[in-house]
This record gives sequence, C-alpha cells and structure tokens, in this order.
Amino acid sequence: MFYIGCHLSCAKGFFPMGKTALALGATTFQFFTRNPRGGNAKALDEKDLEAFLKLKKEHGIGTLLAHAPYTLNACSADAAVRDFAWRAMTEDLERLERLPGNLYNFHPGSHVGQGSETGIRLICTLLNEVLKPGQQTTVLLETMAGKGSEVGGRFEELREILDRVKLSDKMGVCLDTCHVWDAGYDIAEDLDGVLAEFDRVVGLSRLKAVHINDSQNPRGAKKDRHARIGEGKIGLETFVRIINHPALEGLPFCLETPNELDGYEKEIALLKSKRKTNR
Ligand code: FE
Ligand code: FE
Ligand code: ZN
Repeated sequence: MFYIGCHLSCAKGFFPMGKTALALGATTFQFFTRNPRGGNAKALDEKDLEAFLKLKKEHGIGTLLAHAPYTLNACSADAAVRDFAWRAMTEDLERLERLPGNLYNFHPGSHVGQGSETGIRLICTLLNEVLKPGQQTTVLLETMAGKGSEVGGRFEELREILDRVKLSDKMGVCLDTCHVWDAGYDIAEDLDGVLAEFDRVVGLSRLKAVHINDSQNPRGAKKDRHARIGEGKIGLETFVRIINHPALEGLPFCLETPNELDGYEKEIALLKSKRKTNR
C-alpha cells in the first residue's frame, strides 16, 4: 500500500479530519495533538473517536502521525519549559492510547547553548520518565535541520538517544526530507548513500515515517524552510525516487508543504501518479 497524506488541522475532531483526508485522496494524515505553539489539549469526544475509528477501518486509513507542539523542548535550560515538555508528552501519550498503534512524533529539542551532550542527556531523562511498558504508541524522534542549537541534525545524535532510552522498543525515527537536506545529507544526488548511512548509524528498522517536504534552501543551509514538492532545491525527481524506494516501502509519507487543502490534494495526486506499482 502507498500511504500518503498531509498535515491537517484537528480543530473539529478526528472524524472530520478523516473525512477531509479521504476527500484529498490521502491514505494517512498527521495532526497536532494540541495548539502547535503550546497550550492545553481539548478533551476527547468519545462519539467523534468512535466514528473516526470506524471510518479508518472501513477505508483502510493507514498509521497516523500525531505531532507534538513545536514549543515542546525536552532539553531547554529552563526547568519550567522542560516541565511543560514532560506534562504535554505525558498527556498526549495517555490520550493516544485511545487511538492505539499509531505514531507520536516530536522534535528532540534545542540545547540552547548547553551543548548537545547535555541536550541528549535531558531528552533521555524525559523519555525515561514518560514512556510506559504497556503503551501502544511508538514515539518518533524527528530528524532535524540543525538550525540553531537543535539536537537531531546528525543521525549519530538520534542513535545516542535511542541507546540511552530504557524502553527503546517504544521508539523510532521520522525522517523529514527538508530537514535532512538542510542538515547536509545529499538525498538528491545520493539517496541510496544517505539511506545506507541511516541504516548503519540508526538502523532502517527504526524508520517509521517520512515527512515529505521540498526545501527552499540549498543543501546544508540549516534553515528549515519547507517548499512545495518540486518547487524547492530538492526537486521532484528525488521525491519520485523516495516514494518508490524499496527501503521505504509501506511507511506513511506525510506532506508538510506550504499549502492549503487544494494544494495538498494536487501534491497527493501528483505523488500517486508517480508511484511505479499499484500497491
Ligand atoms: Fe516536525
Ligand atoms: Fe517535519
Ligand atoms: Zn520543518
């Protein structure tokens, strides 16, 4: 199966998001667990959840990606910011148990001058507090562009986090194409080489999702400015190779391109038309 979708606003609930995704031709989607800039999550609506789970089953909607708020910084120097990260992640993971078997993606964080070693230690402290042995959600570290003091711009940093988390089997990685490009990995000229390096350092079995975004900037720019598919420096050809790459078969591909719904619909149709198999 080709699981392709986009980021959707969840203001009206899961069932409306599912309907929107299907109308766009999507087979998966991503949503924020709460306002991306922070704040509290809305209470779950049981009827909405029930209707959504039925729709998901009926239409074969694939694994979903929940995205943590951007303000969540597990390795801030400020204890109050780290406390918000702990609270938000704890609540989000509790709520996601109502949608079992999906993915929760977060940005590892910015160490804000403390150094990546301290950053990694703080991120692992948080993960070791919030992960539960019985949980049914896989928590994903997103590959980052390396902007500012971001942790996770190098595959080695992700590896270190995975190594130090006790319930490591609850963890995986989400590869963001714009971010790895901006971090310096040449997915345009050497996709096989980048995936081989990911496999060597992190392990391809850890790769659970792909954020499919073009980049406004040249490779290595560390800027993290997404572009529409084929309108950035990565280019359409690379995305055709990515969605058809055997190492990425079956993973959910999620667009986070600067688009309204009609733009997402076009990009989903474009990528579907570029799939080499009918699966
Ligand atoms: Fe993200
Ligand atoms: Fe992303
Ligand atoms: Zn980004």
